[in-house]
Amino acid sequence: MRVKILGSAAGGGFPQWNCACPNCRLQRAGNFQGKARTQTQVAISTDNRSWFLLGASPDLRAQIEAAPELHPREGVRQSPIAGAVLCNADVDHTLGLLLLRELQPLEVHATESVRRILTEDNSMFGMLQRVSHQVTWTDFTPETTFPLLNPAGEDSGLRCRALSLGSHYPAYVSERRQSALISGEASLGLIVESPGGKRLACMPAVPQIEDTLLQEFESADVLLFDGTFWSDDELIRIQGSGQTAQQMGHVPVSSSLARLAQLRRPRKIYVHINNTNPMLNEAGPEFRQVREAGWEIAEDGWQFDL
Ligand SMILES: [Zn+2]
Repeated sequence: MRVKILGSAAGGGFPQWNCACPNCRLQRAGNFQGKARTQTQVAISTDNRSWFLLGASPDLRAQIEAAPELHPREGVRQSPIAGAVLCNADVDHTLGLLLLRELQPLEVHATESVRRILTEDNSMFGMLQRVSHQVTWTDFTPETTFPLLNPAGEDSGLRCRALSLGSHYPAYVSERRQSALISGEASLGLIVESPGGKRLACMPAVPQIEDTLLQEFESADVLLFDGTFWSDDELIRIQGSGQTAQQMGHVPVSSSLARLAQLRRPRKIYVHINNTNPMLNEAGPEFRQVREAGWEIAEDGWQFDL
């Protein structure tokens, strides 16, 4: 299985359009020792010909152009992108689907709840259903293993299992709709298994680390983990108001470093890094602390084989 990290920032990217925090200001001025990043996007493949997206970021157009493997190969209209797996209905995680609306056949795997939010409440997603055999939606339920199939129905050999991590739906989902949805389908992490049995754990939004989750991580070969915020009150300190990291469904890095220190098996990589996070600064103490703890901090364009 080849894994490409097309984007590694949290929602808004780095720098973020309306943000003048120290990180964003210095990055724009060219005085920041650290990389700019697009919004988190992972792509996986077993044959380098058919690719599956984990989520669909708002930066997908630029991310596809930056990855030659994802460029059209044959004919005038074609894409190696076979489909996508959705973990939640967040704008940062699903908006990219609308960028893939050019009548391209795609297989989209989502929970029933996420599918209904997108296709029944948001009429713009009708652009993905203009002709038959355009986007095929396939429901999955958390904790069950499902195969990733391309639009022709062929099995990629990849197996996915979603873990239920959070119960909060996005703020745009009405209370009436939320009351009709299954709370355990709101926010998921994914375990992807290659045909050879290698495991990727993709966990960009983790509200708390239960013991059962630790066991899942210990059985993974690579862990892509929630690196959104360094500290719980990071946004409040920088903006003067707002929510804590925990309230937004993210365990801060300063906590997860300690909680996950006992992991032995997986290669550990932080993804989904918010522009305010001080560990983006490669000259700073937080960056050094993370690296010395054996973690890596994902950058756009990274890839590895499992
Ligand atoms: Zn910023």
